[in-house]
Amino acid sequence: MSFIRVALDVPLPTLFDYRAAAATRDNIGARVLVPFGKTIAVGVIIELASTTSLPPQRVRSVLSILRDVPPLPADILGLLKFCSEYYHHPLGAVVLNALPTRLRQRHALKGEKAAHHYRLTGAGLAVDAETLPRRATIKLELLRLLRAAKAGIDETTLRAVAPRAAAALKTMTEQGWIERVACTREPLQSDAAAPRVAPGPALTDEQVTAVDTLRNADAGFAPWLLHGVTGSGKTEVYLQLVADTLARGKQALLLVPEINLTPQLEARVRTRFPDTRLVALHSGLNESERLHNWLAAQSGAAGIVLGTRLAVFTPLPELGLIIVDEEQDASFKQTDGLRYSARDLALWRAKQRAIPIMLGSATPALETFHKALNGSYRMLVLTRRVNAMPPVIECIDTRREPLIDGMSQALLNALRITLKRSEQSLVFINRRGFAPVLICPSCGWTSGCGRCSAKLVLHLQDQRLRCHHCGHQERIPTACPQCGNQDLKPLGQGTQRIEGALARIFPAARILRIDRDSTRRKDSWQEMRRQIHAQEVDILVGTQILAKGHDFPQLNLVGVVNADSSLYSTDFRASERLFARLTQVAGRAGRGASRGRVMIQTDFPAHALYQALRRDDYPAFARELLAERRQAGFPPFMYQAVLRAEASRLETALEFLLHAARDGAKMAGGVTIYDPVPAGMPRRAGLERAQLTVQSRSRPALHAFLGAWRARVDHAAGRKVRWALDVDPLEL
Ligand code: ADP
Ligand code: ZN
Ligand code: ZN
Repeated sequence: MSFIRVALDVPLPTLFDYRAAAATRDNIGARVLVPFGKTIAVGVIIELASTTSLPPQRVRSVLSILRDVPPLPADILGLLKFCSEYYHHPLGAVVLNALPTRLRQRHALKGEKAAHHYRLTGAGLAVDAETLPRRATIKLELLRLLRAAKAGIDETTLRAVAPRAAAALKTMTEQGWIERVACTREPLQSDAAAPRVAPGPALTDEQVTAVDTLRNADAGFAPWLLHGVTGSGKTEVYLQLVADTLARGKQALLLVPEINLTPQLEARVRTRFPDTRLVALHSGLNESERLHNWLAAQSGAAGIVLGTRLAVFTPLPELGLIIVDEEQDASFKQTDGLRYSARDLALWRAKQRAIPIMLGSATPALETFHKALNGSYRMLVLTRRVNAMPPVIECIDTRREPLIDGMSQALLNALRITLKRSEQSLVFINRRGFAPVLICPSCGWTSGCGRCSAKLVLHLQDQRLRCHHCGHQERIPTACPQCGNQDLKPLGQGTQRIEGALARIFPAARILRIDRDSTRRKDSWQEMRRQIHAQEVDILVGTQILAKGHDFPQLNLVGVVNADSSLYSTDFRASERLFARLTQVAGRAGRGASRGRVMIQTDFPAHALYQALRRDDYPAFARELLAERRQAGFPPFMYQAVLRAEASRLETALEFLLHAARDGAKMAGGVTIYDPVPAGMPRRAGLERAQLTVQSRSRPALHAFLGAWRARVDHAAGRKVRWALDVDPLEL
């Protein structure tokens, strides 16, 4: 063979041919350095070829084949090819996107600083935790974690324990309790045949049934939906299945949304499997950690990979099980560049490797639930909370009640009672800042963003108006820019306003606001979690950051403010999402000893969504939504793609789309092409945005169409329009 076909990270849907007489089949999947234009590019060998369609004098020679790390294995190349075809995104961009940054750089890894782990020394193992002062909480936690993980733990994970963990690590090193060691890529040597599993709780009957059903199922590809109400012990089921997988000498891939926010989960898995190397893969790691963890997965040394969506591309030679927790979570879908769904790719990967995959959720995506109902996925259910009663959910009719800074008397009374009992409450509002907009009551001026079709949000704490879409910010005007009126008013509520009102009403209460602003500083979220667990907080005010998977045992009351806005949204997925979010928030209440209470303030207490939520009846609600979707011809009964366009003038974007629509109409049938429309948010960061939807009842028909259409669209785009194709879009 004299040529190689190379994937390069350029926006062209082709591979590039180079001369490489020395290349062999073993080099497929290896990185190469090649001349590209006037520069040198790093690429990945996809194929060998004996001929090329290029004229001989134009074929350049490869500069070097990098052998510092093993080549990408064939199954990963297969996954990446599928991903490129399915999302109609250039293969080169897909392949390079899947590599850790370090491997995308134009040189071989050399003198790469070995990643380091901390592990306990003999002296550290001998430390009696009882003899440490009780307030040495950080040291105790570090000792506990390190005891569980014989293999050692990386610095990022340990630092995430608490803001002062770094200092504690230093003292513990000086005390001779822990040591810093370069970690190997070799699998751990374990004395026993199967790695140790620390004992977990005795499973409930429902958990046993779920685990046994999977154990008794035929080997091979099988998609499972674990539908379990919040607190029903889904994670415990995952851990059992992971244990089975490890016992067979296989690797498990556990995908979760936004792992950075839940170091508890990582600690929980680590503690359960003390002999097994667990590596995390998420955007919170630095480049060398990410590379190191990726290599540990690729070599088979890591038994468990715990990661966010990007981890779906990790090479895992012994992959035996995939779990996707909170499978409905929007963060599994990337919303720019390569717009892939990690959940959907995980399903494909499980099929490719002929292994089981479990999707877990309290509120599965309708796409998933539909497949479970029609038998394509097998469903397992956990209907009861393990240690607690389900919370009592009630609606407070806000049409009849005057509100105080957005809160009803009923909610305030409940907060007062909870305070008296020294239990924690949470007021949930999905809007950060003080108020969503500033208005002038005399002329009607509102604080709009000059670059977006959105309002500037009032942030009183730092005295700014901020756009949450483009980042623009400005000083709060002292008078109306339109009429000069000096009495401008904030309209509506955000977390800061609720926080302020609660501080006024309950001066003795310790209030903690948790939103993207208050958790921006590194480590601040860990510190807040500590405060909550240590009961240094009475009332939490927070956005959906708080909604996910956190166990706060003292939290007994949840108040939901301003939920209605999504009820009548133009996005057909809005109510599905609202139901999921409210279920998650409600799931925070009453995880400890006493029964939780959830109060939802609404103008529409009779709405079917709230009624289903009160009965904790996701299946009924889902069936109703599915019936509506079927009738309206929406997913999952239709397959969609959206062509998105951005330009400095709206007409330019619309014209481009119109042209694309006409072009598409001339092509083969089987798809419906809708008229171009301005996007849900027509202007963002100074660009005008428009889109057009293509849909079909047949997935193959849609993809055949998109494949042919894409090239024409690209041709027609020109310089003035930026466009992107979004397959299976989650947002319209
Ligand atoms: P989910 O993921 O379904 O919300 P978790 O797996 O986090 O639920 O379990 C909720 C809580 O119940 C956790 O604190 C967990 O440790 C505990 N738990 C789970 N299964 C059991 C069990 N069989 N016995 C006792 N406690 C359990
Ligand atoms: Zn005015
Ligand atoms: Zn803006």
